[in-house]
Amino acid sequence: KESQAEKFQRQHMDPDTSTVTASYCNEMMKRRNMTVGQCKPVNTFIHEPLPDVQVICFQGNVTCKNGKPNCHQSSSKMRITDCRLKKGSKYPKCDYQTQQLQKSIIVACECVQYETVDFDGSV
Ligand code: 5GP
Repeated sequence: KESQAEKFQRQHMDPDTSTVTASYCNEMMKRRNMTVGQCKPVNTFIHEPLPDVQVICFQGNVTCKNGKPNCHQSSSKMRITDCRLKKGSKYPKCDYQTQQLQKSIIVACECVQYETVDFDGSV
């Protein structure tokens, strides 16, 4: 079974892409299996090396949106792409807006290896 950490990497990690095209989200949301059964409405991809994302677990501790205490905010800005389902897009045709941004990100971390397990937002 896919672990929480593996799921985080499938849904959020894309270190090798630096510039994205308008069709990036449509392709990536499909390729990373986020358009199965329904179109995932909002998802962020991170274009930074995995170790740089994993160390966020040792950076500023913040409360997660769900009230849990295990979220952490990156001390530096990261290259990210925000994928957002367009209004009027109907499953199974998942049509996304692609927006490249540079923002500090917030992730949830959990024990074992103290790994990133959830994307909580960007500020
Ligand atoms: P909206 O901007 O539509 O009001 O809310 C979108 C929310 O989703 C924001 O709070 C944003 O931080 C959050 N968000 C962005 N990317 C992701 C993601 O990949 N996963 C989750 N769970 N939330 C995300």
